[in-house]
Amino acid sequence: MFDYVIVGAGFSGSVVAAQMARNFGKRVMLLDRRNHIGGNAYDHHDQHGVLVHKYGPHIFHTNSKDVFDYLSLFTEWRNYEHKVLASVDGKLVPIPINLDTVNILHGLELTVDEMEAYLEKIAEKPPAIRTSEDVVVSRVGRDLYEKMFRGYTRKQWGLDPSDLDASVTARIPVRTNRDDRYFTDTYQAMPRHGFTRMFENMLDHPNITVILNTDYRDVLKSVQYRELVYTGPVDEFFGYRFGKLPYRSIQFRHETVDVEKLQPVAVINHPNEHDYTRVTEFKHLTGQAHSKTSVVYEYPCDGGDPYYPVPRPDNAAIYKRYEALAAQTPAVHFVGRLATYKYYNMDQVVAQALTLCAKLSGATRGELVRKPELIARTEMLISEAN
Ligand code: FAD
Ligand code: UDP
Repeated sequence: MFDYVIVGAGFSGSVVAAQMARNFGKRVMLLDRRNHIGGNAYDHHDQHGVLVHKYGPHIFHTNSKDVFDYLSLFTEWRNYEHKVLASVDGKLVPIPINLDTVNILHGLELTVDEMEAYLEKIAEKPPAIRTSEDVVVSRVGRDLYEKMFRGYTRKQWGLDPSDLDASVTARIPVRTNRDDRYFTDTYQAMPRHGFTRMFENMLDHPNITVILNTDYRDVLKSVQYRELVYTGPVDEFFGYRFGKLPYRSIQFRHETVDVEKLQPVAVINHPNEHDYTRVTEFKHLTGQAHSKTSVVYEYPCDGGDPYYPVPRPDNAAIYKRYEALAAQTPAVHFVGRLATYKYYNMDQVVAQALTLCAKLSGATRGELVRKPELIARTEMLISEAN
C-alpha cells in the first residue's frame, strides 16, 4: 500500500516525493511517462560527453532562502550568473535592456545619470498597462520594443505581444546602469553535478519507488494507494471537459561543434532573424572543460510536449473552471507548472511543492526544510563528497 502515487518526476513531483518519504516516512510511488526523472530540468551527457539540458537551458535562480536551503540538501552548487546577448541590427547587445543596449542601438553616449530622462523621452504612455506590448513601450518606447521584443515574442508564443498578458514581458527588467546579468536574485547557481544528479539524490530513499516509461492511467487501477499527487497538464487529467488549455511547445535542435567555445555568453537571442528564438551553449552554464561544445536551438511551435502555459485572459478563464473542479476532487492534489497552469520558474515550483507538503503534513514550510532527518542526510552527502 502506497500513501501517495505521484504523477510526474519533475521538480514538483520529486520534491513532494522526497519530502513525504524522508520527513514523514510515507511510502511513495513516483511515476513518469518519460524514460527519465527530472522533468523538463533533465540533463545528461550527450554522445560527445558534453553535459546538456535536453529540454532547453535551465538556469537556477531564487530569492527564497527556504528553496535554496532545501535543494542544497541534495546538491553542491557552482556559482553562475547568467548573461544573455541579443543579435540586433548586426550587433550583439545586452538583454535585459541596459545603458549599453541603448547607447549601441541608438548611437549615443549617455551616462547612467542621463539614462532615466532619455527613457522618459522615448517611452509611450498607453492609458493602462494590460498587455506585454504596453509593458515594454511604456518603459523603452516603440523602437526598442520592435527591435528587441516584438519579433521574439511573436516567434515564442505565436502571438503578438498585444495579445499576451503584461506578466510575460514584465519578466524582463530594464536597467539604467550597465548591469548585464539576466537575473539579480540573491541565489544564482547551478547544481555542481547537474540537475539529474540532484534528482537522483532526492529520490534515493527506500520509501520511494520510481517507475519510468509509464502513464499513470495504465497502472493506477492495479496500485493500492491513499492519495494522488498530479503534476501533468490539468486539462488532460479531466479529459479536456472544459476544452483544451493551450500550452506552447518547442522543438529543440541539439548540435555539437568541434571548437572549445562558440559564443561569448551562454545564450544569444535572435529576435528578428531565423525561425529559432535563441541559441544556448551549455558549457557556459555547467563550467565543463571539453574540447568540443554543444548548443541547442529552440524552435517554438504548437502541439508537441506541453512546456509553457500561455498567459492570456481567455486561457485564465478556462483554467479557473479546471481549478474549481480540481478543488472538488477528493484525494487528488494538483501541483507544478502544468497542473496549475502557471508560468512558473523552477524555484517557484519547488516553493509550491513544499507548500503542498506542509498542507499534507500540517507542518510549516520552514519547519519542513529544517527537519533533523534532512539535516542528517545533508551531513551524510557532504561526508560522501569529501
Ligand atoms: P515538468 O518538469 O513538466 O514535469 C512534469 C512531468 O509529468 C513530466 O516529466 C511528464 O512526463 C510527467 N507526466 C505528465 N503527464 C503524465 C502522465 N499521464 N503519466 C506519467 N507522467 C506524466 N525555470 C527556471 O527556473 N529557470 C530556467 O532557466 C528555465 N528555463 C526553462 C526553459 C524551457 C525551454 C522550459 C520549457 C522551461 C524552463 N523553466 C525554467 C521552467 C522549468 O522547466 C519548470 O518550472 C519546472 O521544470 C516545472 O516542473 P514541474 O515538475 O512542474 O513540471
Ligand atoms: N522576450 C523578448 N525578447 C528577448 C527576451 C525575452 O521578447 O530577448 C520576451 C518573450 O516574450 C519571452 C518573455 O520575454 O517569452 C520572457 O522571457 P524569458 O527569458 O523569461 O523566457 P523563458 O526563459 O521562460 O523562455
